[in-house]
Amino acid sequence: MTLGIGVIGTGMIGRDHARRIEKTLTGGRIVAVNDVVPGAAADAIKELGLGATDHISPEDLIAAPEVDAVLVTSSAPTHEALVLQAIAAGKPVFCEKPLATSVAGAQRIVGAELAAGRRLVQVGFMRRFDSGYRALKRVVESELGAPLMVHAAHRNVAAGPGFSNEMAIYETAIHEIDVLRWLLNEEYVSAQIILPCMTSNAKKGDMDPQIVLLETASGVRIDIEVFANCVYGYDIQCEVVGELGLARLPEPEAVPMRKAGQFSRPILQDWKERFIRAYDIELQYFIDTVRRGEAGGPSSWDGYVASVVADACVEAQKQPGKVVDIAIRQRPALYS
Ligand code: NAP
Repeated sequence: MTLGIGVIGTGMIGRDHARRIEKTLTGGRIVAVNDVVPGAAADAIKELGLGATDHISPEDLIAAPEVDAVLVTSSAPTHEALVLQAIAAGKPVFCEKPLATSVAGAQRIVGAELAAGRRLVQVGFMRRFDSGYRALKRVVESELGAPLMVHAAHRNVAAGPGFSNEMAIYETAIHEIDVLRWLLNEEYVSAQIILPCMTSNAKKGDMDPQIVLLETASGVRIDIEVFANCVYGYDIQCEVVGELGLARLPEPEAVPMRKAGQFSRPILQDWKERFIRAYDIELQYFIDTVRRGEAGGPSSWDGYVASVVADACVEAQKQPGKVVDIAIRQRPALYS
């Protein structure tokens, strides 16, 4: 059976996901769309040539009998309520990050799944599906001995509109927060923010760059450089140092060139290209698991943990240098 998917939020990533479901992936079809902006859903139908119904409200879309699964790609503050509605309707839901904009909100979603007695939610932490991170995880788990340190960097060419210090955590470092705990398979116990010299390319008051220091339960030390105005490119780095050796996240594919006395290799400029395959794989995984009547991938629990850690980092921003403890609840068996 082809999975009928309803998309709530037809902005940038909603259209991107709708396009990949229709044109690249198999087993799913966009049957319904909704957007709070008048005309946006109709535009998406036209632009992508979708055979989908434009629903007047998210509630209407979630309840529609032809909608087997829901994609929540609306703005972050709306995620919690929409995911809760999908769970209440018993419909599997793929929710873009963040799962919720507060720890309490993420807990409510976890509570709703626990009450339903089954997992229905997959969170859009696509880096877990990236072939580079997957290869790195295999090496970390089999070759390096015990991990000791992780050095990571998340660099953007220039900060987007409305950038704030909190956004550097909730929108940017959130990806490292999730993928590094997946990579190391353990939880964080503390967070700290260190501020080096600030770039003159940032707007006044922005902490840019900033270094997020995390410590895991076993004592692994992680430093994440978050640099929103690095100017030279979109650059994601990750290096794991273990007791037997060191391993790095592979660079994205690019053609090295020797010309005019120079050796060069292009660096991506746009984040959308960096994880394009990972987006395909995460959504194909969602479609496949739902069609099998299963659930998997990054869970509501992972969304909850990311919220707790992000909050601790934002708390740490208020007093750079101060160590903030991270307290994560006991993981329920549903998410083991
Ligand atoms: P966007 O372009 O602003 O699109 C979101 C759309 O949803 C907008 O048209 C928005 O309208 C609409 N919307 C807001 N509330 C709604 C509601 N209650 N019901 C239906 N539609 C509603 O945003 P985006 O860049 O696509 O991002 C959407 C989400 O995806 C964000 O949470 C973002 O963090 C996440 N994201 C994740 C990744 C990733 O790497 N995993 C990448 C990009 C984005 P208004 O403009 O009026 O709010």
